[in-house]
Amino acid sequence: MKDPVCNPLNRVSALPRRTFLKGVLAGTGMLAAGGPLSAAESLVSDSTATKPAFRGPNVILVRFGGGARRRETIDPQSTYSPFLCRELAKRGTFFNNMEIAQIEGLNTSHGEGTLNIVTGKYDKYKDIENKFLGARFEPKVPTVFEYLRKSFAVPPHQTLIVNGEDRPDEEFYTFSNHFAYGINYRSNMLSLYRFKAWLMRRQIAEGKLTDKQIEQRKKELAKWEKVDYRTRGEDRQGQELEAFWQRWREYYGDSGFVNPRGDRLLTELTVRAIKELRPRLLMVNYQDCDYVHWGNMSHYTRAVSIMDEGLRQIVQTVEADAEFRDNTVFVVLPDCGRDSNPFADVPCQHHFGSRSAHEIFALFVGPGVKRGAVVDKRVDQSQVAATIGQLMGFKAECAEQRVLEEAIA
Ligand SMILES: [Zn+2]
Repeated sequence: MKDPVCNPLNRVSALPRRTFLKGVLAGTGMLAAGGPLSAAESLVSDSTATKPAFRGPNVILVRFGGGARRRETIDPQSTYSPFLCRELAKRGTFFNNMEIAQIEGLNTSHGEGTLNIVTGKYDKYKDIENKFLGARFEPKVPTVFEYLRKSFAVPPHQTLIVNGEDRPDEEFYTFSNHFAYGINYRSNMLSLYRFKAWLMRRQIAEGKLTDKQIEQRKKELAKWEKVDYRTRGEDRQGQELEAFWQRWREYYGDSGFVNPRGDRLLTELTVRAIKELRPRLLMVNYQDCDYVHWGNMSHYTRAVSIMDEGLRQIVQTVEADAEFRDNTVFVVLPDCGRDSNPFADVPCQHHFGSRSAHEIFALFVGPGVKRGAVVDKRVDQSQVAATIGQLMGFKAECAEQRVLEEAIA
């Protein structure tokens, strides 16, 4: 790789971590003004030049995830996702032989797969605290959200990741640690976590709680802020997202028990987000297939059906929307597959590097994409980011550069 932006060996000296954080926070106005600008700050601050408006197409990226094998999804003989397999696949370009590359030390799992998709680059991720099965990863190269926001005038609330309540580690995939991108170009996160953090702050401000309740909420918030150390917990989501949570609260109340749960919650958040926030790039991270880790196969197959129903609802929402209908591309693919060993005590794991854990698929549907095409040749999960870039009009400069040409009309 000769490109100085993406090759760490060619880069100007690496910035010490603290300088980097100070720089990015200053760039977003999160820190009170203080001291002269350092070199680090000028490196990371966004250009003031007017960026072009984004005209589309929007992309809705559906992580058909929590690990889903081909057998229960795209095989017409054994599918639990009939909408994807029998209806939506016909409307676009369907890659039935996509794989996650076999690379020593590369894990086939949810966080890794998600970052392979959004960065277009494989990496041997390690949890930042070395937790066993921890997935608090920080991508070194930019995500598709950052590329889009650096190329076009797209506000953060129109680049969204919809995340599940059991995936706190994945709350932090909104931006990379790349020196030329990062927090200034981050996406926003829609999740029950963010709602709860917003709600706690609101409740404290409203002054209707007892002292004991306030103390308990402050403690929870402090815990949250410590986890979100890259922004020191200062990353408020902005007025559009706050208004979104306000409407959510008016509808579902404060308890967190009335709203749908699991992957149905993700569908609900996504449908509302399309109507209320008008996202340009949205990723919905379905996850419930993964409950098969508890040992029960029906948890998995049922989750595939629920996800398929969610996909159908999201597609219907877009089709009912005059502005989105002909200006939105769907990209559907799993984070990883699952094992096929029939003798395993617990079926369908995915951490053991088995063949079917690497075997996935991808479907592209929408304007600029060929209709009714089936591509049998082997392609890579890391090619999705550059392909999204090609469709949306940005260059994913640090990603695998081989675009999935067959998808482009
Ligand atoms: Zn898993």
